[in-house]
Amino acid sequence: MSAIQAQDPTVYEILRGEMKRQSEGLEMIPSENYVSPAVLEAMGSIFTNKYSEGYPEKRYYGGQHFVDQIENLAIDRAKKLFNAEHVNVQPYSGSPANSAVYFALLNYKDTVMGLKLDQGGHITHGLPISFSGKFYNFVPYFVDKDTQRIDMAEVRRIALECKPKLLVAGYTAYPRDIDWAGFKAICDEVGAIAMADISHTAGLIAGKQLKNPFDFGFDVVTTTTHKTMRGPRSAIIMCKEKYAKAIDKAVFPGLQGGPHDHTTCAKAICFGEALKPEFQAYAAQIIKNSKTLAEELNKLGWKLVTGGTDNHLLLADMTPFGIKGMEAEDALDFAGITLNKNTVPYDPRGPFDPSGIRFGTPAATTRGLKEPEMRKVATWMNKVVRNHTDKELLAGVKEEIKQMCLKFPVPGISL
Ligand SMILES: *Cc1c(COP(=O)(O)O)cnc(C)c1O
Repeated sequence: MSAIQAQDPTVYEILRGEMKRQSEGLEMIPSENYVSPAVLEAMGSIFTNKYSEGYPEKRYYGGQHFVDQIENLAIDRAKKLFNAEHVNVQPYSGSPANSAVYFALLNYKDTVMGLKLDQGGHITHGLPISFSGKFYNFVPYFVDKDTQRIDMAEVRRIALECKPKLLVAGYTAYPRDIDWAGFKAICDEVGAIAMADISHTAGLIAGKQLKNPFDFGFDVVTTTTHKTMRGPRSAIIMCKEKYAKAIDKAVFPGLQGGPHDHTTCAKAICFGEALKPEFQAYAAQIIKNSKTLAEELNKLGWKLVTGGTDNHLLLADMTPFGIKGMEAEDALDFAGITLNKNTVPYDPRGPFDPSGIRFGTPAATTRGLKEPEMRKVATWMNKVVRNHTDKELLAGVKEEIKQMCLKFPVPGISL
């Protein structure tokens, strides 16, 4: 950062603070990760200077020789990684990607099904004040009250009743694997387009640890590239060839102008990394770590949503400890563990003051933490939530966490 340091000391100091925070604390927000130095370089590359509205070989500006090469490379790698017929790598992020799919395939007020938001759906899956909830008629499906898993019989019953034009599966806070075959069968029965939003689990699917919705005949798959994929903050849309034209037109010129070519470059690098065997080992370790965490927390008497996890994330109800999600988040933050408060299924409290917390292992696994460290993390988390007002104890845990974290450097950061 020598140029920033020389030119703008104010910004430099802020960046240094964030570097220190990322290095010394334990990042357990399940949607975050640490990208490789190569991805960081691509995001700071000279592709940021370019404008390239349109698609490879069909642009509205000159000088596209190398941009076309990088965009085609990103597309080819994504196709291979997810076994996709068609890929659009231009969406700016996950929410614009989902918006583009709806804009391409639905009409105003068409009926769509998605998981109820406070049970794990994303805001783009029908939040009433979002674009999705305002322009489309979202009908929610639910998890079962006892098992806390998606109730497929209920999904089918609701689908037969409301006849959705499109059904969204794939979530933001659901710790279990998804029954892609079951969802596709329901879509076929009611004539709905099957859409998977794998924003959270794409890295686990690319890393061959979870099943790929395309293998079950899904029509459209969207994903962010910055969560378990461990790439730049962005997204892609993948689909069957028959939806390709509509999707491409909806992204540009339907919703976006020029693509962010430096991010496309970083996506090409991210997909290149994910095609390597090391990435499969990484994805496997993410799950081993989250399962270890679940096992230890269960031993310590925690109440985990669904009792455990199949993927990278866990949800825990804080009610048995007599505290709220927010209090747990604050105490853990004070002790150097970053995660977020979250609703649990059928939460009696609201989304701004929910009963639970959500956390996961993708970032910690990138740093090299494995099962022995996860056992320590479980012990620390348990100590903190059970003694959340004891500042001295929290400070002690913070120091222990810092000492462990400094042994596992963050890629791309040297303090
Ligand atoms: C994160 C996420 C998104 C949106 O991604 P942004 O890049 O934050 O817009 C969409 N869908 C799901 C399921 C997500 O988890």
